[in-house]
Amino acid sequence: MRAEVCDQAAHYYAHQEPIVRAKGWEHPIDWQRQQEAKRWFESRHEDRLQLQAESHEESVAAIARQPAALVGGFLRFEMLCSPLSTLGFCQGRWFLESYDFAGSPRSSHKERLALELFLLRRVCGIDVAQITLYLPDRHFVYQEPIEWDRFFRPHNLSRSVHHRLVRIQRAFERLKNPPKPPTTPPIGPICRSPIRCDFYDRCLGHLPQHSVLSLARVDGDKRFDLIRRGYLTPKEVPESEPLGRYPHIQIRSEREGRAVVQAEAIAEYLLNFHYPLYFLDFETVQHVIPPFEGLRPFEPLPFSFSLHRLDAPDAKLEHFSYIVPSGTDGRKKMAAQLVALIGPTGRLVAYGAEYERQVLRKLAKWSPALQKPLESMAKRTLDLMIPFEKRWCYHPAMRGSHSLKRVAPALDAQLDYTALCVSDGRDAMAAYLQLSEADKPQSEAILAALEHYGALDSLAMVHIYRRLEALATEALISQEEPSHDHHP
Ligand code: SF4
Repeated sequence: MRAEVCDQAAHYYAHQEPIVRAKGWEHPIDWQRQQEAKRWFESRHEDRLQLQAESHEESVAAIARQPAALVGGFLRFEMLCSPLSTLGFCQGRWFLESYDFAGSPRSSHKERLALELFLLRRVCGIDVAQITLYLPDRHFVYQEPIEWDRFFRPHNLSRSVHHRLVRIQRAFERLKNPPKPPTTPPIGPICRSPIRCDFYDRCLGHLPQHSVLSLARVDGDKRFDLIRRGYLTPKEVPESEPLGRYPHIQIRSEREGRAVVQAEAIAEYLLNFHYPLYFLDFETVQHVIPPFEGLRPFEPLPFSFSLHRLDAPDAKLEHFSYIVPSGTDGRKKMAAQLVALIGPTGRLVAYGAEYERQVLRKLAKWSPALQKPLESMAKRTLDLMIPFEKRWCYHPAMRGSHSLKRVAPALDAQLDYTALCVSDGRDAMAAYLQLSEADKPQSEAILAALEHYGALDSLAMVHIYRRLEALATEALISQEEPSHDHHP
């Protein structure tokens, strides 16, 4: 159950089976390291441990039976939000400690901790005053042996969890006397935030796959207002709707079924692209507990790059790539290869370029001897996403997004990612991590899939660049035309 419950959800929860959702994506973490972290957490209060329970139900029942036994002691129990928590009593106050491997405190942590607190208060009569969640400290620099006291950083969530607790109590009262279901579900941003409602498909299952919820730069309330007024898809939204210029480009393009292009803005931006051009894409992995010295938790570690080099407009396109052998530290070798392939002049091109710039700067930090050329590369990197992010070019097939995976096939149908077994960055990270346990045939298949995916990403940028160039050239030829909007 969530803290905020609408009338429709209160009715569903009171009359129907709860729905259990699958767990989402987690960052990779070594099992052995997890056990070390668990031992550290257990050792924090080891000498005073009095009760131990294996399951959530068992622990709540145990606390309910003998809360007095806990005074002056501690209870370790399973929580809904993390594998292990400690409930204790110190200086006249109850406290709760838990740990997790997330990058920062999430809404889901607070929601679930609030539910725990609610159960403790309701079933056991315990009011918890202090709630602390231990998470990896992003500033921790890895070196062996790990000092877990420094690796984990405490986050005091008392205030935000208590805030949600009040709402859970209210929701609980409503569940005891569920309101009559409204004639129409009171849909709104609450259906998707802070977590997707358990009953989303029942209330919003009628929405087409590409609905007004995909309208970029329109706030949540406004999107749901459009749905309530019967506008389900972007092309149904009238021109008179006061949404601003940005979403209206999307609406217009989808209504007319063709791209909307501001060719002169594109032409001006492309003046920055000086040959030779290096279309560069990195794949990275983020470890919770870094595998190599000098890395921090969640710091992106590049494991492959794909580079297409174009020396002049009519020159032969050349491709280079590198995948770091599994289990090895390939940072220095990768830096050396890039310096050997990328000259001191020309521009690098990346999609969402800040990421590539950051990786180049990190490689410079890790390879001091190559610092100068790598930092120069970061400075010379241009972002091919800008024309799409700024809506100088929008195609209906982009479906409100300006990600490479949407833009590339919209401009060139041959650039299709859907048939690939590695089709996005997360797949690539997961596939790379599998290499450590794969046999030879499996490794070959994984490396081929990674190679194919990386090559497609940098090749897609070449195609997009050429398509933008063609549009800009057309605009320059037809200079007499006063209009800035152009339909290819
Ligand atoms: S999807 Fe929205 S309207 Fe339906 S039950 Fe959930 S929060 Fe309420």
